[in-house]
Amino acid sequence: MLKQRLDEVEGRIRAAAQRAGRRCEDITLIAVTKKFPAEVMRDAYQHGLRHFGENYVQEFEQKAPELPDLAGAVFHLIGHLQSNKTRKAAELFQWIQTIDSARIATRLEQQTARPLDVMIEVKLSPEEAKHGTGADGLPPLIDALRASPTLRLHGLMTMPPWSLDPEPSRPYFRRLKQLADAHGLPALSMGMSNDFEVAIEEGATHIRIGTALFGPRNKA
Ligand SMILES: *Cc1c(COP(=O)(O)O)cnc(C)c1O
Repeated sequence: MLKQRLDEVEGRIRAAAQRAGRRCEDITLIAVTKKFPAEVMRDAYQHGLRHFGENYVQEFEQKAPELPDLAGAVFHLIGHLQSNKTRKAAELFQWIQTIDSARIATRLEQQTARPLDVMIEVKLSPEEAKHGTGADGLPPLIDALRASPTLRLHGLMTMPPWSLDPEPSRPYFRRLKQLADAHGLPALSMGMSNDFEVAIEEGATHIRIGTALFGPRNKA
């Protein structure tokens, strides 16, 4: 089942990259495994997936002890990071994609001696997105992260309002790309099961895919 879905997703990634004149190697597929048990992550690993996205620090804290042997696996926090979870997050994840304030960045920095790869979550749709910094807050946050000895800023992440049709996401992706280019940031985490091809066309370097690989999640 996963094999089939993965083949299909990889085929769609290749086709979108080709349309956009981009190389597949420049696009990292992050398997979003929130609400799925550790066995599903292990199965995905055995199918060759190496990047995993989790939304909740607490949930991944439960699963991580079952997965100490997945050599080379890279874990990304893609959900909102609360300030009381920064210490745990810095222990569990190599990447934190959802930095959205200097306060969170400072806490993370104080709580880890090990380098962390990070992105800034940007809120481009004021009414709908709950988290992320607005475009106004971006320059000072970029400056703060660039001055950090432990946090390595790679780029920007965003989540447009969800819709089945991918086209409404395109202007958000385009805007994120403009912001990243304006600040000399190479990484763009954008695109999910419903809109990853459009994200690739607009320059995504990291796409975050759950449903298209693992099927629907339990609504808990
Ligand atoms: C759940 C989630 C995804 C994956 O969504 P799918 O529609 O299942 O592919 C990607 N990014 C974030 C931030 C998420 O919360």
